[in-house]
Parts: sequence; structure tokens; C-alpha cells
Amino acid sequence: MSNHVDSMAGAAVTPPQRAAVATARRMAAGLIDLLLPPRCPGCGMIVAGQDRFCVECWSGLDFIVPPSCARCDLPLLQDAGPEATCGACMADPPPFERAWAPLAYGEQARSLVMRLKYGRRIGTARLMADLMATRLGARNGPEPLLVPVPLHRWRIWSRGFNQSALIAAHLGRRFGWSVDVDALQRVRRTDPLRGLGRTARAKEVRGAFAVPAAARARIAGRTVLLVDDVFTSGATARACAQALRRGGAAAVEIAAFARVIDGRGGGDAH
Ligand SMILES: [Zn+2]
Ligand SMILES: [Zn+2]
Repeated sequence: MSNHVDSMAGAAVTPPQRAAVATARRMAAGLIDLLLPPRCPGCGMIVAGQDRFCVECWSGLDFIVPPSCARCDLPLLQDAGPEATCGACMADPPPFERAWAPLAYGEQARSLVMRLKYGRRIGTARLMADLMATRLGARNGPEPLLVPVPLHRWRIWSRGFNQSALIAAHLGRRFGWSVDVDALQRVRRTDPLRGLGRTARAKEVRGAFAVPAAARARIAGRTVLLVDDVFTSGATARACAQALRRGGAAAVEIAAFARVIDGRGGGDAH
């Protein structure tokens, strides 16, 4: 492992070396986690057990409770039965069968997503997957193939990991479902969607994803459960679902950790 770190001193650091350094850092972080007292993943306060929230952060989590849209999981004001959809899904049905998200995107959810994405708190992925599993427990239907929303390879090299792939791996272990991290590729680098309106977001991600020829046989006829950290406008989920359907998937569902709900929690997710 030390040769990888030493190579950082050299002028040229190749992407594989960078990935190896990221792995070494992750392992070191894992060791430190074992030695230090457990801290709340929301605020960093010392708590009783690993990956447990303090009372304040736990009560700050904004859980999505029924009734919610049967397609996109948007909370509905009135309970009109399990098949009821929101107005947006009725007017323009999404290319996915349905989305599952345990939380509305608010302060605490944001803090977890940021810790995982930028703070390299890999243990956070398991916690997020556990919360998602509570929501996915309501799901029935054919056994899905888990496919994480891909990052562009440049971003994986700079970050060292794809946060959605980490969450998918935990969900796969928990439910005994297979994970296919290569079933979907980001074929075009996209700009961050932050600050863009709905139409501009859709335009930015259009054609950005594709199922590589080598993966077609693996997803043919399958129900794909696309894993993302945050479901914002649904632009990314829609673009991915379209690509997966074109690639031969029989159906696509979305599993997100948090769902942005206008006027609730708010903020920019991506
Ligand atoms: Zn806390
Ligand atoms: Zn909806």
C-alpha cells in the first residue's frame, strides 16, 4: 500500500493509482472509526452506538409517510388509494414504474449526503441504505437488479468512489439482490444541475446515459432498481430510466435516499 502512497510524490499520478490511494484512505478511515467513540452521522456528537443518530438529529429526519404518489413518491394531501398518482405523473407519466425514498430532502438528509459525498464517511452509505431498506420493505414485485446512477469516470477518479454504488452494494447485501455497476454508463459529462430549472435539467442530462452493448444481455427483461442518493427533479432518474428501457430492461424503479419536495426542506441537492 505504501508504494501507492509514495507514487503520489511523482509528477504523474494515473487514475488507477489515485483509486488505490482512495482505497488506502478509506481503509485508514475504517480503522479510525473502530478506535474512536461513535459519533452521530448528522452532527458529529458522541453517541451510544456506531451509525446511530443523536435524538435531535433523528427527530430532524423528515420521513415520507403515506399517502404518496404511486409513481414518484411525492407526498399527497389526500389518500386516494394505493394507485393514486400526483398531478405531474398523471399529466406526464415518468419512464419509471415508481420511486422509493424514505426521506424528504431537508437539513439532516443533506448533511448525510454531504458527509458521504465529500467527507468520505463511507459508513454513512450503510446507514443510508438501512433507511432506504425500511421504505423498500413495502415493495413487492420481481426481484430487481440494482444499478447505481453512474458518475462520469473523471468524477470517480477525483472522488475515489461512486456514492450511489456504495449504497447499492449495501442494499444488495441486505436484500440478497444482485448489483450491476456496469449496466449503465455516463457517456457524456454533464454540468451540475444545481440552480437549473426543470426544463434545463432535463436538457442537460438528455442522452447522457447509455447501456453498453456488453451489459444488454444482463438487463434484458429485468426489473432494474436504479439507486441514487437524492431524487431532485427526477431529470437524472428519467434519463437513466429511458436509457435502461432502451437497453432492454422490462421495468425501472428508483430507490433514492431522499426526495426533494418543493417547499419542504428545500435546497439544491446536486
Ligand atoms: Zn446529531
Ligand atoms: Zn408523482
